[in-house]
Amino acid sequence: MSGPGSGWRGRASQRPRGQFCPDCGGALFFDYRGGERPPACPGCGYVRVRHPGVGVAVIIRDEAGRVLMGRRAQGRYAGLWCIPCGRLEWDEDVREEAVREFLEETGLEVELDGVAAVHSNFHDPERQTVGIWFDGHVTGGHLHPADGELSELGYFDPAAPPPLAFPTDALVLRELAGG
Ligand SMILES: [Zn+2]
Repeated sequence: MSGPGSGWRGRASQRPRGQFCPDCGGALFFDYRGGERPPACPGCGYVRVRHPGVGVAVIIRDEAGRVLMGRRAQGRYAGLWCIPCGRLEWDEDVREEAVREFLEETGLEVELDGVAAVHSNFHDPERQTVGIWFDGHVTGGHLHPADGELSELGYFDPAAPPPLAFPTDALVLRELAGG
């Protein structure tokens, strides 16, 4: 079961070790008996409240309305497909980052048209994100998996996608397919 707050649930045997208070350096206290409380520092009262990261994806469609998708080459989702995406890092502008990630992963230069969808991603409880899917159009470049993140690229009917890495991509594709 994943969902909001599930990241710090667990039994004592799963207690994270070596996590310290960023304010005073004391060991953080994980209270799993309640099941819902975030890690806290008994020394100074610091509470580690976590915030999700931001994921960005760009939706490019061909003349037939098919959506450009990539097959992931690495990590736990290797072999599964996604709408080309990336995670925002500190100091990065959300739109600039979406364009840059798309170029790095697909070889295509794009301009963004607007926000197509926004969803919370809970599929990895330890790396929760808010995903933003932009509509875009191609302005240059040529299609090839450029940076090693994706092994294969192709256009797919949003009503009949390949095996997907992320449940929220399935949601977005269903919306694009018109139901
Ligand atoms: Zn402290």
